[in-house]
Amino acid sequence: MAKKTIKEKLSWNLDEILKAKDFEKLYKEIEKEMGQIEGWVKKLNPEMKEETFRGIMDFEEELGKKITRLEYMPYLLEQVDQKNQEAKKLKGRADDLGVKLAQKSRVISHWLIGKETEGLKRLDDKNAKRLFASIPDLEYGLNYARTAAKYTLKKDEEDIISHKDVNGANQLINLREIIETEFEFDLKIKEKKVKKVRTLSELLSLVHSPKKEERLAAYRAMLFKYWQNIDKFFLIYSAIVKDWGYEAKLRGYKSPISVRNFGNHVPDEAVETLLNVCRDNREIFQNYFKYKAKRLGMKKLERWDIYAPLEKKTKKINFGEAKELVLETFENFLPKFAKLAKRIFEDQHIDSHPSPVKRGGAFCATVMPEISPYVMLNHDNQMRDVFTMAHELGHGIHSLYAAHHRMGSQHANLPLSETASTFGEMVLFERIYSFEQNIDIKRSMLSEKMADSFASILRQNYFVIFEKRAHEAIQKGITAEELSEMWLSTLKEQFGNSVKIDKIFKYEWCVIPHIVNSPFYCYAYNFGELLSYALFARYKKEGKNFIAKIEKILAAGGSEDPDEILKKVGVDMKSEKFWQGSFEIIKEWQKELEELG
Ligand SMILES: [Zn+2]
Repeated sequence: MAKKTIKEKLSWNLDEILKAKDFEKLYKEIEKEMGQIEGWVKKLNPEMKEETFRGIMDFEEELGKKITRLEYMPYLLEQVDQKNQEAKKLKGRADDLGVKLAQKSRVISHWLIGKETEGLKRLDDKNAKRLFASIPDLEYGLNYARTAAKYTLKKDEEDIISHKDVNGANQLINLREIIETEFEFDLKIKEKKVKKVRTLSELLSLVHSPKKEERLAAYRAMLFKYWQNIDKFFLIYSAIVKDWGYEAKLRGYKSPISVRNFGNHVPDEAVETLLNVCRDNREIFQNYFKYKAKRLGMKKLERWDIYAPLEKKTKKINFGEAKELVLETFENFLPKFAKLAKRIFEDQHIDSHPSPVKRGGAFCATVMPEISPYVMLNHDNQMRDVFTMAHELGHGIHSLYAAHHRMGSQHANLPLSETASTFGEMVLFERIYSFEQNIDIKRSMLSEKMADSFASILRQNYFVIFEKRAHEAIQKGITAEELSEMWLSTLKEQFGNSVKIDKIFKYEWCVIPHIVNSPFYCYAYNFGELLSYALFARYKKEGKNFIAKIEKILAAGGSEDPDEILKKVGVDMKSEKFWQGSFEIIKEWQKELEELG
């Protein structure tokens, strides 16, 4: 058995990106080529030939690819070996060179978006249109950047802002992290003696425990610590919110959340519709919590019970079995999915198992079109690891579908970036679920699916609803306690009468790093997930015919406006009806769960 596990263990091979021994050579090459940028800058002229323009863009892309190789190799190396000092050193050098390169080529990007640039004639709209059209693959991205110019300030002002961010908001975020890392949590399970817990992730692993006293103790230990430091967290958060709001106004955005929406290539209206439809469907999850209480033999769930498992025993699945299952599922859905996923395995671009020096979690890194993506996993023989594998390979498949694009337009923009990954998970879920004979396992699978959907959809949605309220209130003036009350009221709205919420949860808002570090970021999760559910619902209804449309979406990568891509397949992300389709799927799961008893 042990032998088999070792054989299954995959380590990724980074040679295709860059061999460690070639780092210096490439570094020098980039330095040298950076010297050519000035020559290209001199050629910038609104009346220039399309051919010259393509030459400049090709030069930029080639140089971009070189710096990407230089940065990615040590970055990925460090992900699987966090103690690797050599990797850290190389990464630092690559990043520094990257910053220098970005600074040098900023003149080009500034000129492209139509800013006044010393010594150059400004690029007018008409010529911009003509030149951009000569590279259809980059046309959308270049035009979008030009639209962004209206939110850009003068160069001097931008310089001040970037310094202010580096030494202001960014340092506050670092300070918050320092405060957090210094925490030592006092875990007290029942009347036993206090156990010191050093990390939040160790503590949070207990919220899925089958034992109530462990879940309760974990939440108490965590929230107590945050409450003790509430003034610090409030101070940091207020400063960031005020700064964000000030800058949004200065740049001319309609509202604080519009800053994020624009960056995500999503219209404000679509986000508003999403937030509302999600909120209006909260009852589905409330019904789930009521059902769960019954199953667990409780009158009503308390907040610390919501992630309690229905079954104490779980099914184990090793890496080899997981791989087989995922590839088989893809093959069944669409052979091309399986073919592309296999390529990632064959290219040795997968790092499969946890190790003491490897970072946790999982991701898929799209380096550039000519290299198949890299997938990091931490397979621990749990059922959820199989879904993670399907999810990350889904991202990889998406990248490979879009590998005919240039580097700048391979990667899908936010609204569509989770399409293949969520699809992968959904088809896997359906397959495992339909083959499973044991009713207890079926029930526990569905229950977990509901709990996961709650966490990635409704919970994230309410983070953003809270943020909208908080950003408004902080501008007007509010105390830490009032802000915490505000959080509690969003919890009450979210759970209705389905879950009893202890007062200590008031302080939960400061536990969530995204709320502070990247305002309004969290709707990315429910947006991506629900969009994919809705597409999946269409696939279920229209069958194989819809697959061609999915492929079209995937192949577009980031080369077109996401709204346009979706319209082409008959989807309007501003329509309530479209989003409602996703909730019909979740409703079905809940119905099925109740039928299982
Ligand atoms: Zn993902």
